[in-house]
Amino acid sequence: NLSEKLNTIFKKLKGHGHLTEEHINKALKEVKLALLEADVNYKVVKEFLNRVKEKAIGQEVMRSLTPAQQVIKIVRDELTTLMGGSGAELNLKGMPSIIMLVGLQGSGKTTTCAKLAKFLKEKGGKSSYLVPADTYRPAAIEQLQKLGQQLGIEVFPAQNSQTPMEICINALTEARRRGYDAIIIDTAGRLHIDEKMMDELKQLKERLMPQEILLVADAMTGQDAVNIAKTFNQALGITGVILTKMEGDARGGAALSIKAVTQKPIKFVGVGEKLNALEVFYPDRVASRILGMGDILSLIEKAEETMDVQKAKELERKIRKSEFTLEDFRDQLRRIRKMGSLEQILSMIPGLSQMKQFKNLQIDERELVRIEAIINSMTKEERLRPEIINGKRRKRIAYGSGTTVQEINRLLKNYNETKKMIKSFTKKGKKGKRINLIDFFH
Ligand code: GDP
Ligand code: MG
Repeated sequence: NLSEKLNTIFKKLKGHGHLTEEHINKALKEVKLALLEADVNYKVVKEFLNRVKEKAIGQEVMRSLTPAQQVIKIVRDELTTLMGGSGAELNLKGMPSIIMLVGLQGSGKTTTCAKLAKFLKEKGGKSSYLVPADTYRPAAIEQLQKLGQQLGIEVFPAQNSQTPMEICINALTEARRRGYDAIIIDTAGRLHIDEKMMDELKQLKERLMPQEILLVADAMTGQDAVNIAKTFNQALGITGVILTKMEGDARGGAALSIKAVTQKPIKFVGVGEKLNALEVFYPDRVASRILGMGDILSLIEKAEETMDVQKAKELERKIRKSEFTLEDFRDQLRRIRKMGSLEQILSMIPGLSQMKQFKNLQIDERELVRIEAIINSMTKEERLRPEIINGKRRKRIAYGSGTTVQEINRLLKNYNETKKMIKSFTKKGKKGKRINLIDFFH
């Protein structure tokens, strides 16, 4: 499958210590094949790769990531953008909100109506009124009624003799009277795109002005689902897509193409026949899942290159025993320099970047060089026991390193703050969970 293939490609890429443009081009060619085999729309693949290539080549080299990691990061970011960036939310501003599900027969509309009502109730505390407006398919009304009964969710008592329009108008009146948060309308599909169906839907849309018109499409049909979404969007205008049967779709081509082709986001995915098998669609998570790595994982890789476990453990032990010396401080600075800015590393750990002690830790390159020079001008004893560095010693160090006493003062202050910060790291965190320095650098 796609995820396995991409993993193999990037593993190979990581195997090269130094990446040439040729390596990157070869890897991207393989990515292209993998996407095409996953049944992603050809045009989408082409544009996607152009964007990745442009970024991969135009990109300033980040010290904190290896070239292979940078390529992976770009692919991950572009995959996320491709699928719609941050997740799309349902518009629930109506009173009630009118949500209309449309799509071909067998795509999963009726089932998804029930799933959605359950989802809104359990995840959002919203009450829904289910509206069976499919008078075309035999027993469609009963199907929804049964599902509603199973879930304890009210279904409008529609009659087969009524038109879909009558059903919807009456249901809406009733929903307003009873104060439901949402009505979810199950509409009639056809086996193929059909003008009569589309006209019916258009009329419903004009009259009801729904907040959401969600196309329900079967992910297993791949590019057919994409084309169906495109046609529905052009003829009717949709607000989003729900892709069903995702659990059976080993390829993922529809999920990857729909946003790019229709400009409409996937809002939910169906992942099974059971009524709880509905998930919000989060492009970033899906992209990470496809590539088989989380944010933290990339952070780990990052740190592993520059610092081995043994050293981290040793350092942690020292800090616990308050032995964090200026020599260790210098080592730390060197590592930070290799990894990129400390701020950048911290920003990848949820929550930590907000802690105020990290706000002023941005250290620039030139300053790092001066700090090293200062520490090198100290005697071994001074490095191990900085508290002995008095005024006279400060003058000597400043002279020896070509800096000023103020700079020595600032460095010592910085060192003390870092010592305190690292100590607080190794103590118990807010929720009683201990954050290890080991965790931090790994
Ligand atoms: P409709 O004709 O569009 O109303 O489709 P239905 O709601 O009647 O669903 C058609 C079939 O697809 C039913 O057997 C559903 O159980 C099944 N189905 C719907 N969503 C999913 C899903 O996410 N996964 C799987 N495996 N089956 C689904
Ligand atoms: Mg149905």
